[in-house]
Amino acid sequence: MPPDLQIINARLPDRDGLWNLVLSQGKIAAIAPAASPDPTADFSNTLNANASLLIPGLVDGHIHLDKALLLDRRPAHTGTFAEAMAETLSLKQGFTEADIQARARQVLDRAIGFGITAMRSHVEVDPTAGLRSLEALLPLRQEYRWGITLQLVVFAQEGITQQPETLPLLRQAMALGGDAIGSAPYVDPDPKANVRHIFDIAQEYDCDVDFHLDFLDDDEPLLLPFVIAETQRRGWQGRVCLGHMTKLAGLPPEQLADLAAALRETQISILALPASDLYMMSRQETYNQRRGVAPLHRLAEQGVNVGVATNNILNLFTPFGDGDVLKICTLLAQVLQLGTTASHRLCLAMATTQAARAIGIADYGLTIGSQADLVLLKATSVAEAVGAAPADRTVIKAGQVVAQTRLDRQIFAPGPVMV
Ligand SMILES: [Zn+2]
Repeated sequence: MPPDLQIINARLPDRDGLWNLVLSQGKIAAIAPAASPDPTADFSNTLNANASLLIPGLVDGHIHLDKALLLDRRPAHTGTFAEAMAETLSLKQGFTEADIQARARQVLDRAIGFGITAMRSHVEVDPTAGLRSLEALLPLRQEYRWGITLQLVVFAQEGITQQPETLPLLRQAMALGGDAIGSAPYVDPDPKANVRHIFDIAQEYDCDVDFHLDFLDDDEPLLLPFVIAETQRRGWQGRVCLGHMTKLAGLPPEQLADLAAALRETQISILALPASDLYMMSRQETYNQRRGVAPLHRLAEQGVNVGVATNNILNLFTPFGDGDVLKICTLLAQVLQLGTTASHRLCLAMATTQAARAIGIADYGLTIGSQADLVLLKATSVAEAVGAAPADRTVIKAGQVVAQTRLDRQIFAPGPVMV
């Protein structure tokens, strides 16, 4: 076994004072006040946090590795959702395994540097993509295990019922090793049948479900009640995660409260994707545009597990971003007007422990027995971490330091002028 690591003099998000942590066999073995005597006695491998903030590893619970970094090939002209769908489908025809892997590696390398220790990527499986994207990404799941836990969701982006040849492909993809199954029912002419097909496959392969749901701001009714009912009918409580859910932002409080109660009861998690949601919402409004980001804080108040994630990086769906989910956390706090100490803590949980729960990862967080997936940030408070997303980070995966970033800034103040 590799040697144990001890971290000394760390601030923690939910505790006052400074703390020492012992990491052993990939887990957090002990957490004790830093005043404990002789902390370095038995450890050759000690990391002194020097009063910086130690947080659980960041979790990006919703990203698309297969269509990241496409903007230089196909820039936006109108910026609409319809353009993004059509142009990305056209690009997808030319994807090769090598191309997908090269772009995914860029994102994964950066993610590990940012301190993302777990990630769930949707992977498109349909008559255009075939199994190519999944076959490209499956080896990377193993190759990058040292630095990141990567889940791959077999994802029907283009609808199912209007192209039924998608269904056998989805099943083949699950047999190849997909971790979960999902779709975007709002692009399917029969959204309910689409949802039923996905649950059928989930039951066949005993896997979690992850829908892109109730995205956009049209007048179509919410599909959420149907997904809640199917979750109950199939006994899939605690195994369903929903991304976007932008339509929740348009509900009056009493309607939102009823849905929140049902979400809590069925243990369905909601992930907001604010970089994409803000970009795509309210295109038809010429002034006073709505924000269209799911009100996660209101859902959290009622016990719903909520998180925040990246979704896309530099493509037609989201022509922004570098894959740092902590920066997305900052964006969420700004958009949802979350400025109190308690709400900053909630934001951090949404990018760490709660996002982990949303994608089915147990034993995650700053507790004894949890996975030793941690990030030491150059920040002295949660407010600074969420508010400024500091660049300087030391990343620990399964008890081992796997990345370190130090910002090299030089300031050239004018010297004294000689006359
Ligand atoms: Zn997505």
